[in-house]
Amino acid sequence: IESIPASMRVSELLGTDSLTVTDRPVPSPRADEVLVRVTSVGVCGSDTHYFTHGRIGPFVVEQPLVLGHEASGVIVAVGSDVDAERIGSRVSIEPQRPCRVCEQCKKGAYNLCPQMQFFATPPIDGAFAEYVTIQSDFAHDVPDSVSAHAAALMEPLAVGVWACQKAQVTIGTRVLVAGAGPIGVITAQVARAMGASEVIVTDVSEERLAFAAKHGATRTLVGGEPIDEVSVDAFIDASGAAPAVRAGIPAVAPGGRVVLVGLGADELTLPVNLLQNRELWLTGVFRYANTWPTAIELVASGRVNLDLLVTHTFGLDEVEGALMAGRLPGALKAVVEPWR
Ligand code: NAD
Ligand code: ZN
Repeated sequence: IESIPASMRVSELLGTDSLTVTDRPVPSPRADEVLVRVTSVGVCGSDTHYFTHGRIGPFVVEQPLVLGHEASGVIVAVGSDVDAERIGSRVSIEPQRPCRVCEQCKKGAYNLCPQMQFFATPPIDGAFAEYVTIQSDFAHDVPDSVSAHAAALMEPLAVGVWACQKAQVTIGTRVLVAGAGPIGVITAQVARAMGASEVIVTDVSEERLAFAAKHGATRTLVGGEPIDEVSVDAFIDASGAAPAVRAGIPAVAPGGRVVLVGLGADELTLPVNLLQNRELWLTGVFRYANTWPTAIELVASGRVNLDLLVTHTFGLDEVEGALMAGRLPGALKAVVEPWR
């Protein structure tokens, strides 16, 4: 059992474009929690958005905030109600604390809990830190075959799993995915793993399409071009771009599903007549619930590869570089290693 210091280094966002590395006390796990020494933390577009804009919709950075919510690590201490055998376990962190007693929580839709505390969403701190605490059942054990980076990227994989579940992807389903960023590429891989016979991926970037073509897509199309000749059972938007959503809906066959994952277009004009005549199902998705076991299985069995998404790595002193890495050529996913 390793000794735990009294203080740790964390990266704090002070306000727009302002980051600092500072010392904080190492948190003590509550009775039902574990203390995790953080190994890898993926950077998400939302982290970058808080850095560059200081807010996302109603969530405003008003006090120093630790960013990062795609995290993995090793359990180094446990609360009084948690089995001490868990110390030493390599884990993927599900970065949310639902209340566990409300109507949504009780029916299993805990992602919709009104009391949700989610990592790196003001005022809740995230994981660009040497240590974090999490409720023990949300520190999911990963097998040794799963790398630390892959364990961190279970979080965006959970988004892809949830999206494919909402889209009812199964054997033989034809799927259209708009956007070949990390979420789109992951979603394409999940769709294939779930048995989709066709996975068409669109993007405006040729470079990203070339990557998607190697990792999940059966066919790629440049976004914005007409996709009239395409007919799919499910359309998953992972771009957040209004033109992509408008182009995708007419490609969905009668009785098919439209799943909006991408954030960006706050208001959209929809082809209501088409939705009605074809009886399409349209849903948004808000993160995920109960998806980690599936996500871990997909990676452990080799059906989804998360390691190949990681294009850049940074230390805790280099979080600004990590947050802005999206602008580097060829960038897909940046990861922060707090102990490097
Ligand atoms: P990303 O920005 O890396 O990827 C978006 C991709 O969409 C880019 O490659 C971009 O070139 C492409 N794009 C832009 N316009 C397009 C168009 N007209 N047609 C096709 N593609 C187009 O982001 P990401 O990390 O992959 O995340 C994807 C989206 O999912 C983001 O909007 C993110 O905020 C959202 N997201 C939502 C949830 C949720 O719970 N709903 C969770 C995680 C991420
Ligand atoms: Zn709840």
